[in-house]
Amino acid sequence: MTTFAFENRIWDPAAETMTAPERQALQRSRLRAVAGHVSRVPFYERRYAELGVTPDDIRSLDDIRRLPLTTKADLRDHYPWGFLAVPREQIARIHGSSGTTGKPTFVAYTAEDRDVWANLCARFLVAGGLRPEHIVHICFGYGLFTGGFGLHYGVEKVGAAVVPVSSGNTPRQIMIMRDLACDVLVCTPSYALNIAEAAAQAGMDPRELPIKFAHFGGEPWTEDMRQALESQLGLLAFNNYGLSEIIGPGVSGECAARDGMHIQEDHFLVECLDPNTLEPVPEGQLGELVITTLTKQAMPLLRYRTRDLAVIDRTPCPCGRTTIRMGRIKGRTDDMLIIRGVNVFPSQVEEALLRVEGTAPHYQIIVDRTGALDEMTVRVEISRESFSDKMSTMHALRDRIDREIQHVTTIRATVELVEPMAIERSQGKAQRVIDKRREKGLI
Ligand code: ADP
Ligand code: ZN
Repeated sequence: MTTFAFENRIWDPAAETMTAPERQALQRSRLRAVAGHVSRVPFYERRYAELGVTPDDIRSLDDIRRLPLTTKADLRDHYPWGFLAVPREQIARIHGSSGTTGKPTFVAYTAEDRDVWANLCARFLVAGGLRPEHIVHICFGYGLFTGGFGLHYGVEKVGAAVVPVSSGNTPRQIMIMRDLACDVLVCTPSYALNIAEAAAQAGMDPRELPIKFAHFGGEPWTEDMRQALESQLGLLAFNNYGLSEIIGPGVSGECAARDGMHIQEDHFLVECLDPNTLEPVPEGQLGELVITTLTKQAMPLLRYRTRDLAVIDRTPCPCGRTTIRMGRIKGRTDDMLIIRGVNVFPSQVEEALLRVEGTAPHYQIIVDRTGALDEMTVRVEISRESFSDKMSTMHALRDRIDREIQHVTTIRATVELVEPMAIERSQGKAQRVIDKRREKGLI
């Protein structure tokens, strides 16, 4: 018997609890439809011709493998509107990726796409405890970034109240959430950490903040980080995933069982592929998520390479949803650092740091190359309490961190302990990595 953290509710039972044959039939017909719909996009028309495939060839779900892949570079090469599949006048909203890895890419929604999006956000919000009587504090940026508006309309769909605070000015955020007695917090996990810290600095116990549920997404985080945030802020934290190219937040999210994020399979067909061979990875193994939008009108994408790495879980979930789940994003293929030939993800460093008592989960990884050798330096903040004047105490702490990082990554790093608040705080997605090799043109 699973005990849920709170009452298990489902926003759209018809969609979320379909039997496997029902869902497959729906996906099959939607896949055929989208394969036809995109053939008016010159990029796909060309790729179809090159691959010798037509939409009529798509009969089963396995036939997806005959369809062309789409990459971020393809979107950039056709900037801004090469992937638009409807007349311009049907566009009802435009967003852009946050441009973490270069120039932004714009994405478009029809009015129908926008409504689907709000419903998908409602699904994960309800799965994570949202009720109509709640007040939701959103500190995602309201702008081109999909986070703010996506969650905003999802909350409204459910009938709850939104406080659209947007990002910035953390002390003011804290005042607002306390004065308005907000029940739910929406932001990136790294920003939640800033909130906890700023509250403590203001002489408050962060656990006294009224927030009961939090929906975190937009950047990778770890299970240890969840525990840290939950105990510091006294709330239940849920993970949700999405990316602007596909729709924004709403691709997947956790339920009350909190054991993987349910993928909204009636709208997205997700493959998990080996990023090098592009073959499906064996069941339960880490692979790149490659997503086909099944219902998007304005900018449907076939087999979009997200560069996000995760494991797919097809086992049934006690919550009653019948959709497959994805594990935490372990990193992005373009986030992966290759240090002396070894693959290292920032999330592995985070995992190591959070195992060591006395460190604050604020860190930065600096990679450089002197001569032929790559060097990784990890700057770690230590908590105020563990800051000590005794050299030997600090050395012991540094050695422990060094050992943990080596244990998790197999790499020897130079660990630099820095004072509380020495690492710049982010308002949205945290910048964890500075790769000087890239700045020097070495990689
Ligand atoms: P970008 O950051 O590429 O400019 P987006 O703002 O659309 O574009 O961000 C989407 C990316 O954010 C995803 O591809 C993924 O790497 C990351 N992301 C979003 N949600 C999560 C999550 N819950 N866990 C880990 N990573 C996430
Ligand atoms: Zn579930």
